[in-house]
Amino acid sequence: MTDPFLGPDEPDPVAFENVTGGSVFFLTCDHGGRAFPRRLGTLGLPAPETLRHIAWDIGIGAVGQQLSRLLDAAVVLQHYSRLVIDCNRDPSVASSIPEISELTEIPGNRGLSDEERGIRVEAVFRPYHAAIATALDRRAAEGRATALVALHSFTPVFKSVSRPWHVAVLFNRDPRLAHALAELLRAEGDLTVGENEPYAVSDLTDYTVPVHGERRGLPHIEIEIRQDLITQSDGQKEWGERLARLLPAAYDEFRRGWPG
Ligand SMILES: [Zn+2]
Repeated sequence: MTDPFLGPDEPDPVAFENVTGGSVFFLTCDHGGRAFPRRLGTLGLPAPETLRHIAWDIGIGAVGQQLSRLLDAAVVLQHYSRLVIDCNRDPSVASSIPEISELTEIPGNRGLSDEERGIRVEAVFRPYHAAIATALDRRAAEGRATALVALHSFTPVFKSVSRPWHVAVLFNRDPRLAHALAELLRAEGDLTVGENEPYAVSDLTDYTVPVHGERRGLPHIEIEIRQDLITQSDGQKEWGERLARLLPAAYDEFRRGWPG
């Protein structure tokens, strides 16, 4: 028998906080963690690479936890690095386990067999999304309204190009909640707000919003915050407080515009 992929002393892929929180908002941090299963080492990367944005969404887990406390909202965080497997990408897409990220080659991801890919899917990806699906099923069974908020952060410089946005809202088939929040973010007066830039939601580049938001018909939004704004605890607190103020207002706008 082979050893289990994750040892009994290694972190569970899913961290669920405030699961019974009373808020309409349900928060996810698909790229919140940067742990590597012991069995994979650091995928052949020098240690500093495992701290960079290629390994995780810097700062977003702390913002998610802050928001969870301020809104009394459930938050689900993924512990393992997106380089182990990207939990916001369909596992059938090649880049779900990237061989190259930005300009960095990931030696431990090169030439994986289907079996090796499958082990990561089952050990990390599936339990994470099963936890989200179970929690959303339970809320639906209880007749609770839910708005899904997928939290991410983006690097201020990508492939040597600086990015001007402080924050961005992303969407695909249903822009309603995203538009409402974008207007409120712009009204803050001190922010450059992207809409579907530097990224947009799609079925190939995302999983959480298409599967748990769109398919269930839940109001949803994907939020990206620039990493240099939330690297330190004061910025994390500031953004937690800002979004805790604006998200409920955006949801009210959403409900006013589209009754029922
Ligand atoms: Zn992300």
